[in-house]
Amino acid sequence: MCGIIGYVGNMPAKKILIDGLVSLEYRGYDSAGISFFDENSNLHTIKNIGKVCNLQKLVNEDKHESSCGLGHTRWATHGNVTNENAHPHNAGKVTLVHNGIIENYVELQKKYNISEDDKKSQTDTEIAAILLNKFYEETGYDALKSISMLTGLLLGTYSFCILFEDRPKEIYAIRKISPLVCSKTSIGSFIASDLTA
Ligand code: GLU
Repeated sequence: MCGIIGYVGNMPAKKILIDGLVSLEYRGYDSAGISFFDENSNLHTIKNIGKVCNLQKLVNEDKHESSCGLGHTRWATHGNVTNENAHPHNAGKVTLVHNGIIENYVELQKKYNISEDDKKSQTDTEIAAILLNKFYEETGYDALKSISMLTGLLLGTYSFCILFEDRPKEIYAIRKISPLVCSKTSIGSFIASDLTA
């Protein structure tokens, strides 16, 4: 019931992300957030419970330029409606958004000894972010291999859009059952969970 938007190109990304989230509002959601690379390739995340217009006010206060980023509207399935549980989730070099449910996240947390102190949220999604960061490090920062290692472990449904801190002009995406569409245009590349965005 929630949404994803991503953009990389020549246009101001923050506006495209917020406009995309507005067009996804009809699906219903409880919180919203964006992550973007600034003009110096530093990664920023702004997220909040409630309406996209509230997020937009916070985003407008941020004066960085951006040409690459992700946006998400959340419909909570695991974890309460809190700022910490809102997406995007950050773990080390990984920032990601997720639509869907990771059914075996508790088992994975145990198997990989992820303690409650290692987490900032109560979500199934954050376990995926933590594991992806671990595999990214273990593979010597191989994005595709680490994503493949992650998805090989997951049960459930997902569409993920992923940023790596050291890859400021790249968005990685993968889906299983949950939808994602992408398009390449003269002003950049877009990815979204829904054609309206
Ligand atoms: N299961 C995730 C959560 O509760 C994603 C929910 C969604 O699809 O928005 O945060």
